[in-house]
Amino acid sequence: MSLEQKRRLVTELPGPRSQELMERKLAAVPGGVGTTMLVFAARAAGGIVVDVDGNHLIDLGSGIAVTTVGASAPRVVAAVTEQVAAFTHTCFMVTPYDGYVSVAETLNRVTPGDHDKRTVLFNSGAEAVENAVKIARAHTGKDAVVVFDHAYHGRTNLTMAMTAKNMPYKHGFGPFAPEVYRAPGSYPYRDNGLDGRAAAARAIDQIEKQIGADNLAACVIEPIQGEGGFIEPAEGFLPALAAWCRANGVVFVADEVQTGFARTGDMFACDREKVIPDLIVTAKGIAGGLPLSAVTGRAEIMEAPHAGGLGGTYGGNPLACAAALAAIETIEADGLVARAREIEAAVISRLRRLQVEDNRLGDVRGRGAMLAVELVRAGTAEPDPRLARDVARYAHQRGVIVLTCGTYGNVLRFLPPLSISDDLLDDAFDVLAAAFGEIR
Ligand SMILES: *Cc1c(COP(=O)(O)O)cnc(C)c1O
Repeated sequence: MSLEQKRRLVTELPGPRSQELMERKLAAVPGGVGTTMLVFAARAAGGIVVDVDGNHLIDLGSGIAVTTVGASAPRVVAAVTEQVAAFTHTCFMVTPYDGYVSVAETLNRVTPGDHDKRTVLFNSGAEAVENAVKIARAHTGKDAVVVFDHAYHGRTNLTMAMTAKNMPYKHGFGPFAPEVYRAPGSYPYRDNGLDGRAAAARAIDQIEKQIGADNLAACVIEPIQGEGGFIEPAEGFLPALAAWCRANGVVFVADEVQTGFARTGDMFACDREKVIPDLIVTAKGIAGGLPLSAVTGRAEIMEAPHAGGLGGTYGGNPLACAAALAAIETIEADGLVARAREIEAAVISRLRRLQVEDNRLGDVRGRGAMLAVELVRAGTAEPDPRLARDVARYAHQRGVIVLTCGTYGNVLRFLPPLSISDDLLDDAFDVLAAAFGEIR
């Protein structure tokens, strides 16, 4: 690694240079774009972000599950450097190039199922989700889309309609796209022990009564919900829903934008219960930090849109494609799926130890390196967003980048890069343990 993998603070946080930049940001960038951290980045490598004042911070966020292979992963840097010197853009729809086709072939190989597949590339997760809906509508000739409580699918007009939470994603930004319906999901901590099959039956009953399979083009679901609170549905929920979709001519779309590419201790979260989605949407961890997203799916569905119906100026940009090939090679060559499971074992055992001593840690959950703790008022299940905010702030001031999420804003989530060292993880969770000790 090009940077020493150690937390080291040389100023108070935020330091003077960061404060100066924050003043410029406030005058130049609208306040609608918030920042988790008050420090500005200068460099990053592996599990360390160095700020403009020279402080070394531990990264438990990976830029929201993006730098899964580590910041500035060596293979990604080399591949992008070579590509940028060759050409930066031709537009795949004008003069195509190998990198795009190679990424499509790679995604067709690594995504769940060994059926005939096609892949189309875009820039952002939201853009890919929108295109998955377009493809499902073209294939089925139907309009309606069903999504779930606590879902997050993006911030564009269609994906705002698909996202559940009003503040901050939707408030004042309507009217929203029509024909988007919401069904109950599976939230084991708050479901009173409803098992996966029963939760699926509840969702399917509502879908049949309120929408009707004959009107429904697609069911879009995150196999583990991300922004909504790292909610892992009870076992059996996803397979039952996928089976109902198949039996009823509804395209089953897995939004694996956050869960994909080894993050959850499988290459894709759907792999755990052997669910094979008709379409799978990927982004975030796909390209080591470069903007790229994809829709991959059954050839007969993907071929439904007419010639020229899919695309975009930058979709499958050559730099992003080079980065994706290098990132996926890194995941496979460095055994990062197994590494994610090691991280799970280490972090979950620490969180459970904390939970035994502190009943404000209501639920410890997640898989691989997508882990979370839901915070509640002592001895109840009442959400405590203030505690989540205070613990996060305590960690930020001590050089640990940690994110919150959840419909109630009361979930601390951990998304370390899979290349992070055990020492960095230990140090970061020592800081978090101290936070729970000090904050009452
Ligand atoms: C982040 C995210 C999106 C949106 O991705 P963008 O690249 O921010 O547009 C969609 N779905 C899920 C599950 C996500 O986590």
